[in-house]
Amino acid sequence: MNLLYKSTRSEETVTASQAILKGLSGDGGLFVPVEIPRLSVSLEEISQMDYAQTAYTVMKSFLTDFTEEELKGCIAKAYDSKFDTAEIAPLVKADEAYYLELFHGATIAFKDMALSILPHLMTTAAKKNQVENEIVILTATSGDTGKAALCGFADVPGTRIIVFYPKNGVSPIQEKQMVTQKGANTLVVGIHGNFDDAQSGVKKMFGDPKLAGDLAEKGFQFSSANSINIGRLVPQIVYYVYAYGKLLANGEIAKGETIHVVVPTGNFGNILAAYYAKEMGIPIGRLICASNDNKVLYDFFQSGRYDRNREFLLTSSPSMDILISSNLERLIYRIAGEDEAVNARLMKELTEKGVYEITPEMGKRLGDFYGNYATEQEAAQAIHQLYTSTGYVMDTHTAVAAAVYEKYRGETGDETKTVIVSTASPFKFTRNVMKAIDEKYDAMSDFQLVDALSELSGVDVPWAIEEIRTAPVLHKTVVEVSQMEDAVRNFLGI
Ligand SMILES: *Cc1c(COP(=O)(O)O)cnc(C)c1O
Repeated sequence: MNLLYKSTRSEETVTASQAILKGLSGDGGLFVPVEIPRLSVSLEEISQMDYAQTAYTVMKSFLTDFTEEELKGCIAKAYDSKFDTAEIAPLVKADEAYYLELFHGATIAFKDMALSILPHLMTTAAKKNQVENEIVILTATSGDTGKAALCGFADVPGTRIIVFYPKNGVSPIQEKQMVTQKGANTLVVGIHGNFDDAQSGVKKMFGDPKLAGDLAEKGFQFSSANSINIGRLVPQIVYYVYAYGKLLANGEIAKGETIHVVVPTGNFGNILAAYYAKEMGIPIGRLICASNDNKVLYDFFQSGRYDRNREFLLTSSPSMDILISSNLERLIYRIAGEDEAVNARLMKELTEKGVYEITPEMGKRLGDFYGNYATEQEAAQAIHQLYTSTGYVMDTHTAVAAAVYEKYRGETGDETKTVIVSTASPFKFTRNVMKAIDEKYDAMSDFQLVDALSELSGVDVPWAIEEIRTAPVLHKTVVEVSQMEDAVRNFLGI
């Protein structure tokens, strides 16, 4: 069966490979599978599979126009020794929860799970669709996507990659990781603005027909590595299926037993993948959506009203500092009964007024979701507490999830086995992690902190961090939001 993808805002329908190439649909909507496939094998079979086998099983039901050979080739190139463990996504039990560590890839954050495979999916998709143009990946990042995408696409023939990041909105290590990126096809640009400004600027360029025309004339076309691309969403479903299989294989749960997942959320991509895993047939009970002080999603789940008109706060979990969670559109479309007109109207209200409200009937379909948030202090406290009681050190984003899980358990008394999605290595956010453990560490320099964390946690400093200690800065461009397009034109010579 050939699974097609449809826009959330119109009737536009494409194949999987076309959806990956296009990123966004022509009307500004997001591509969604016309139906979510059911898992093609039993949970016992899943429990016997390694990561690559699980990935193939899940992805083949979504990306039906890829051949077995193509898909297995992409998977083999992605989940290899770039990851520092053969398990790829290990599950660590600490303090009555299971931490699904998604940070063992090249840039030590969960974006690697999808961005190590996206370039291969995209170049395969280009061949399938006889695309002759060079593909220009245009990306806005709140810190982690940028480096993961740069790593994935650097020196991949037939591609260029341009990354915009908020100059004052990422951690020092995140910035250093990006501005030291090698590869003649890469460009990294800081902007005077926040992540939403960067994302809106990128979306605007995607929707600009004049720019598209000028690109085509010179043999270029845009695509997106942001989490709106289904080529990112689909690989993210894999680790939820894999985690369930591992819990089953290790005897932590019985066959068919329900688990909850807690996801530290920004753009709503990761938790949406969990929702798709559930729809595929994985026994997931609640999808617990954890926000930081930018709690627009918490408010939405409470009230049915999405309102981005509020102050944008910079927190110690910068990859979740987002007020427009793009992937939520896919869920809105679904709870609207897959009605593109209803969704398009709400998204128009979001663009024009910064706010929309769902109907009570739509709200009823959100029963699987539970939203809450953790303040800066609550997240720091969670790091401190977990370290003190178990010796396990988590990063600032994972800490938001752990703190929200604590609130959930306190409110409900629900003891269902729960997976907390661990989205970054603590080595990426060393200062705030170490400060949470003990204030005294704040006096140290960034790299002293790295060494101190290694000693305290007994974990070797990851290569991704070693590498940037001495790497030269190769990207120095910083522009106003209004100059983003000029930066693109300059780099491409158009
Ligand atoms: C991107 C990111 C998130 C948020 O994930 P979304 O899919 O955008 O919701 C959370 N934590 C870290 C470390 C991230 O890099």
